[in-house]
Amino acid sequence: MKPIHVIPLSNGDPGHAAPGLDALENLASHLARLFRTPCRIRPEPFDIAFSADAGRGQFHSTAILQRLERACDPDARILGVTTCDLYVPVLTFVFGEAQLDGNCAVVSTARLQEELYGMPKRDDLLRERLIKEAVHELGHTFGLRHCSDWRCVMTSSHAVERLDIKSAEFCRACRKSVFDNGYW
Ligand SMILES: [Zn+2]
Ligand SMILES: [Zn+2]
Repeated sequence: MKPIHVIPLSNGDPGHAAPGLDALENLASHLARLFRTPCRIRPEPFDIAFSADAGRGQFHSTAILQRLERACDPDARILGVTTCDLYVPVLTFVFGEAQLDGNCAVVSTARLQEELYGMPKRDDLLRERLIKEAVHELGHTFGLRHCSDWRCVMTSSHAVERLDIKSAEFCRACRKSVFDNGYW
């Protein structure tokens, strides 16, 4: 299995920092255990200012994936992590996006924070949501589509309530397809 490289994404604005190292380290160790492959964090943030849509105040996730694919090691699976809000043109926002059966995935913490929904800050919940979203998007890079098992991490979730209900694990069928499909 390819190693995973976690790439912090910043938008070039010093007031808008890339995700904190604590959260990234927690994520990287979880991914390494789950996928049983080395997972390292790139020290320098990757600038995604090019993908900004000034009108929407958001960043175009598909453009980020294309740029990550060109800029990063093709022998690694790439996961970009940003605090910037992401979108694709047909949707108001996305938690993340991935190349189906490809190399690159991107996730955003912007909509995973309780503060956004008028609730007190919860770092533990933010970490858990980030892990679920990252595992989900990486699952797409293994060719997995959305799963009908509501507990499976590959079930689709466009709201944090749905994210909180599902687990951070693959169901049996999804797990089998990640680990038995020749990626090893
Ligand atoms: Zn998905
Ligand atoms: Zn599943």
